[in-house]
Amino acid sequence: MTIGGKFAPVSIWVDRPSDLCPPPDHDIDAEIAIIGGGYTGLSAALRLRELGHDVVLLEQEFCGFGASGRNAGHLTPTIGKDIFSCIKLYGEKRGLDLIRFGEDAVAFAERTIAERNIACDYRASGNIIAGVHPDQRAILAKSAELAARHGLHADFLDEAEMRARSLPSAFLFGIHETGGGHLHPGKYVMGLRRAALDSGVQIHEQTPVDHIEHGETLVLRSQARRIRARQVLLATNAFTPVSLNMFRSKLAPLAVSLFSTPPLSGAQLERLGWSGREGLYTAHESLESFRLTADNRLLGGSKYVRYGYGSSLPPADHPETFARLENMFRVRFPELADVGIENYWSGWIALVLDFLPVCGTVKGEGNIHYSMGYNGHGIAQASTMGAAMADRMVGKGSGILDILSRRILPLPPEPFRWLAVQGLLSFLTGKDRRLDRKIARESVETITEAEA
Ligand SMILES: Cc1cc2nc3c(=O)[nH]c(=O)nc-3n(C[C@H](O)[C@H](O)[C@H](O)COP(=O)(O)OP(=O)(O)OC[C@H]3O[C@@H](n4cnc5c(N)ncnc54)[C@H](O)[C@@H]3O)c2cc1C
Repeated sequence: MTIGGKFAPVSIWVDRPSDLCPPPDHDIDAEIAIIGGGYTGLSAALRLRELGHDVVLLEQEFCGFGASGRNAGHLTPTIGKDIFSCIKLYGEKRGLDLIRFGEDAVAFAERTIAERNIACDYRASGNIIAGVHPDQRAILAKSAELAARHGLHADFLDEAEMRARSLPSAFLFGIHETGGGHLHPGKYVMGLRRAALDSGVQIHEQTPVDHIEHGETLVLRSQARRIRARQVLLATNAFTPVSLNMFRSKLAPLAVSLFSTPPLSGAQLERLGWSGREGLYTAHESLESFRLTADNRLLGGSKYVRYGYGSSLPPADHPETFARLENMFRVRFPELADVGIENYWSGWIALVLDFLPVCGTVKGEGNIHYSMGYNGHGIAQASTMGAAMADRMVGKGSGILDILSRRILPLPPEPFRWLAVQGLLSFLTGKDRRLDRKIARESVETITEAEA
């Protein structure tokens, strides 16, 4: 299959840092070890240093190699699917606690960026969950009504308001989540890495942990080295079932792909409008995401996610998905018919059956902790959860963990897991496909009527 655009092995955001922190050259004794150098692990490490603890962070490649260096950069409070479904699924009290957790998580990430002076092109534009067909109006209006009733930071934008904001014409109406916006995810994760190093976190990159020996002192094995620690935090997200052979029944890794255009010219930007540069998601079951970057690229994707049998990580280079993303871009942005795609890439998110993060302490010894499974909305959630888990590890209470405590519906073993995940994905994408076909049909009818 030939498509325009080049595959970026990690993303357009990050490269292996030139000051890579090498693997340990001897065995290490640590008070606390963290496995995984994304937002969760780095945020936990920073908080632990603030509280005066010694921390070693072990990362299999380089900090930012996972989803934290590959994502679309929407800093969003979204938790679960949307406000309406969240309250419907979890009840009013719990649903609102969860939504407020999402809003607080955004505020936490914003504070981190400001207090640690992380230059990550953060734009506090909010994000709009947009309808691209009138059929999507009812659910968005219901969410907006609930948001207004409970004082949440989300406003309904009707057609006139969307046009007044000069948003691209495919996006008809929407809910504006006013908290958050978008950022350069690579600069954010590398800013956290730099802050962690400056605060005294001992980071070892290219240090994959492949075995954990349980006991009062935990022994992590990485290549020929042993890292002994009294407590460990697993911050390994979608990699966990593969790299540690753990949590297979709690989360399913999914590959998500994105694309970016070259920087748009002044004339193309003018044609496009979108002067407020709000982040855009569609109200599909499996959403489409779009945003402009600080250097004027249009970046988008999500929607076509992939599961690998046995919770393996599906390949990042997947031309069939990239071709579908290009088609999606063409349909939503007729204003940019003269713009090509420059890059594609993919990363892995962790899906949980109830769409909420998975965090806590492994039963038994009580010294292995974990936080993961942000269902593709982890910039804010992982940042705040890392800090919350750090508090828990040193005996400080955290209300966040109580909000997320629940019995998690387990995924069955293979081959039933494959069937369950594929079943869920086909249910969601089937609904989206029918809606997209309807949009295509109606637009042909409109063109034919206009020509008649
Ligand atoms: C394409 C894409 C788009 C997304 N868009 C958005 C978005 O717009 N907004 C949003 O909020 N969220 C988004 N997300 C989700 C968000 O990026 C993640 O939820 C978040 O980055 C998770 O952070 P983390 O630190 O928990 O995991 P990760 O960033 O995945 O970090 C885990 C780290 O652990 C390391 N590791 C794993 N196993 C081992 C081991 N055994 N030994 C040592 N190291 C190990 C990995 O190398 C990795 O660096 C997106 C994700 C993807 C993939």
